[in-house]
Amino acid sequence: MPISKTSPYDVIIIGAGINGCCCAYTLAQAGLNVALIDQDGIASGGSGAAGAFISPKISKAGTLKEIMSEAHTEALEFYTTNFPNFTLVKPLLHVANTPEEGEKVESFKHETHLKHSNIPHKIQILLSDEALNSPSIYFDKGAVVDAQGVCNAMTEGIDFYPIKVEKLIHSYGSWQIGDLNAKHLVLSIGAYPKLLPIEYVGLRGIWGHRIDIETATHIPCILHHHVSISPTTKEGIVAIGATHNVHYSPFSGELYDVEQGRSILLEKASKTLKLNNINIINDYMGLRSGSNDYLPMLGSLVNAVSTLEKYPHLRHGQVVDPRKYVYYPNLTMINGSGGYGFVLAPYLAKRLGEFLTDGKEMDPILSPSRFFPRWAKRQS
Ligand SMILES: Cc1cc2nc3c(=O)[nH]c(=O)nc-3n(C[C@H](O)[C@H](O)[C@H](O)COP(=O)(O)OP(=O)(O)OC[C@H]3O[C@@H](n4cnc5c(N)ncnc54)[C@H](O)[C@@H]3O)c2cc1C
Repeated sequence: MPISKTSPYDVIIIGAGINGCCCAYTLAQAGLNVALIDQDGIASGGSGAAGAFISPKISKAGTLKEIMSEAHTEALEFYTTNFPNFTLVKPLLHVANTPEEGEKVESFKHETHLKHSNIPHKIQILLSDEALNSPSIYFDKGAVVDAQGVCNAMTEGIDFYPIKVEKLIHSYGSWQIGDLNAKHLVLSIGAYPKLLPIEYVGLRGIWGHRIDIETATHIPCILHHHVSISPTTKEGIVAIGATHNVHYSPFSGELYDVEQGRSILLEKASKTLKLNNINIINDYMGLRSGSNDYLPMLGSLVNAVSTLEKYPHLRHGQVVDPRKYVYYPNLTMINGSGGYGFVLAPYLAKRLGEFLTDGKEMDPILSPSRFFPRWAKRQS
């Protein structure tokens, strides 16, 4: 673990969750010299807690659906090709847990190009009446990755620095983090404090809890219903997880009630199927950060102070071409993937790589600057 290397890097990445690790891997593969920083270690935030399913997002037609669908296809290919030892490919059953979701499932079935079929008998006999009688879709191919394993594998050979970054300094054309410096900075810090005055970036953290259990019940496919229940890459281990606790924040100073979290997960799992002889072997918890409009973020960050100085009438609703905003130089944020960080990471990292190596413009729809004009209008 190098801690005294001072030579300039091409890119410094802050945050070693799935986004930071996947960027480090992709950029290093493209020949860039990368430094990766995290205050707590590889996959120690939301990514370490994730069930890490590579599941399609069941959503209605629109931009979000198109991006998620492309990301899902790319992710399946990416993990099975590059990290087969950390990827378990299994069929996937998605059961709606509300009437509203039931409608989405039914319309998704008619629109999707993904291969799906009737639920096989061996799975039907495991399911509760509630699960059997709810709208559902059974995909022939889904996948789950070993969250920590894949992040560690992605960062093999990458210079990693266990540093808590307090301040971002840009001077003489490079970003300086302690002794390290690089022309480009990637900020992939999930739901943690933002490090820059970028209040306009609409993100919220949602707490999640996953348990790994041993059980006498054999689970032949990945199940998403009230919670996710799935075999894992570890023989005999089943993961149960969810990110539905919107009320708890680790930054509040309150303690999270792990026992209660476990009971809720097991109780919700029992609505899908009966699990026999359960032995809980591990808990994983963390925050995932979702954007206010559910689209992920990939792009430059607007310097709010300088932009408002340049265009003070933004406060009164003046429309300014986003290309004219003032941006922090050579800084890209990746964030807001919600419950789909593992699905989206290869897609986002690939586009960041194309931008840094070939100058290919990143999709403005994903730019964090999309939140800026609305926020600026509220500053009057
Ligand atoms: C229970 C649970 C289940 C989930 N299931 C799935 C799933 O099945 N499929 C899926 O695709 N997604 C799932 N997700 C969502 C997924 O985990 C997130 O979208 C993903 O982890 C986001 O990754 P990230 O790299 O952006 O953030 P994080 O993993 O949170 O990483 C951010 C990192 O930045 C570091 N950091 C922050 N600030 C600083 C600083 N100042 N200095 C140094 N380091 C810093 C943190 O230590 C952290 O390691 C789940 C999430 C949870 C919680």
